[in-house]
Amino acid sequence: MLVKCDGKDGCKESFDFKGFEVEKLDNDIEKTYFICPHCGKEFISFYTDTCIRKKQELIRGIVSESEIKKLKKEIAKDMKKLRKKVEAGIK
Ligand SMILES: [Zn+2]
Repeated sequence: MLVKCDGKDGCKESFDFKGFEVEKLDNDIEKTYFICPHCGKEFISFYTDTCIRKKQELIRGIVSESEIKKLKKEIAKDMKKLRKKVEAGIK
């Protein structure tokens, strides 16, 4: 998959996306991201913590469509909250 390095400080070059990298941070938080090979810009996709990963595990075992929907909504909310928290700590 070809992706473009955009965003406000991206180099605008295209590159072949080969998959996400995962980096372990403090407090059991994992950062999922990829890096532009041209300029080294980091694109953060999302963060997960133990709670979010547990919910993701749960989804795999669920057959009910409505349960999955509900959990996915929760996860999205958790990820947003976590991202705010992590990035506030970094900067
Ligand atoms: Zn770039």
